[in-house]
Order: sequence, then structure tokens, then C-alpha cells
Amino acid sequence: MNIVLMGLPGAGKGTQADKIVEKYAIPHISTGDMFRAAIKEGTELGLQAKAFMDQGALVPDEVTIGIVRERLSQPDCEKGFLLDGFPRTVPQAEALDSILEELGRPVEHTINVQVEKEELIARLSGRRICKTCGTSYHLVFNPPKVDGICDKDGGELYTRADDNPETVTNRLEVNMNQAQPLLDFYKAKGVLTNINGQQEISKVFADLDALLQGSRS
Ligand SMILES: [Zn+2]
Repeated sequence: MNIVLMGLPGAGKGTQADKIVEKYAIPHISTGDMFRAAIKEGTELGLQAKAFMDQGALVPDEVTIGIVRERLSQPDCEKGFLLDGFPRTVPQAEALDSILEELGRPVEHTINVQVEKEELIARLSGRRICKTCGTSYHLVFNPPKVDGICDKDGGELYTRADDNPETVTNRLEVNMNQAQPLLDFYKAKGVLTNINGQQEISKVFADLDALLQGSRS
């Protein structure tokens, strides 16, 4: 069960990834975790990645792809894996195809958890924080009992600058522009499945699960 899971920030990809890896007992492979592990183990590629990260620079594709290749070659990936946050670009996707061809384990599912932009903005800008105690609320997922007031101490709730709708929209648009070529690439190959992420978490997972069950041999 080899899966590439995609989704914009706020789409709930991380939550669904956790549920999939738990149910199917496959490793959850995210770029961040892979980098941290390679750096910790002091592999040559890990050290190269660290040098770029220490300078605040983007890790180049060739290093990232090398780290992915090493990770996917490990025994725990033999029964499958869930890739989360990789590939991010078309060249990375092409490299992934050739790595998996070498390993004889093609991707079976390329899944995009799809949520409309307006809904993502609402989700991403919904955080409210208590000025008094710092408790965090969310207008959609975890609203306070009284609008604008902390449940615990009656403190006033405020929106962090990072969470205001304009900032969120700008950030989201950058992400959407980056994601589109990759979605187009997989769509053109005929391997992309869109899952409706604009439902209850359990319903989104039920849809994913049905898709994955359907492919079980
Ligand atoms: Zn409070």
C-alpha cells in the first residue's frame, strides 16, 4: 500500500495521515521527519541537508530526493508507506517515480484531500487566544461558550497577526500556486484521486478507507 497524500494547509491531511498509518500499519514518512532522522544519524545526505538548513536555505531537490531514496529503501517500507509533504514539485514527482521503479514498488494511490479556498481560510484564520491565560480556541473546531470570551477566566480573546484572514489568504495562495503543477502532473497521468475534505473528519476517513480497501489484494 504505497500512498502519496496531498492537501493544502488546513485541509486536514495530517489528521487523515495519522488515521491511515494506524489502520494500515505502514510508516508515515514526512519530509521534516526524514530530514531530522538523516541529520540525527549523520548520513552524508543528512549533513548536506543540515548545511543548507543552517543557512536558512531551501534544501535542493537532489539532496531531498537522495534522502527519500534512502528512506524508502529501508525494510519497514516493504509493505507500504505513506508519503506526506513529498513530492512538492514536478521534478520531485518524476524522481519519485524513478526511485519507485528501481525499487519495484510503484505508488498505488495519489490522493488529494480537497477543501475549497474559502473554507480553508475560515479554518486557518479561526484561532482565538485568551489575553489572560493563553488558552487557544477555534471558531469552527473548538469555539468558546461565549463569543470572544475565555471559558476559563472570562479573558478577552484575540487573533494573532499570523492568523488574520489577509495573512492566511496570502500564505494559502502561495501554497496553491506551488501545489497546482503537481496536481496537474498527477491528473495528466490519470492517477489522482480527490477526496472531499469538507466533511466530518470521520467521513473523510471513511472515504479514504473505502478507496484503500478497494485496492487491497
Ligand atoms: Zn483565559
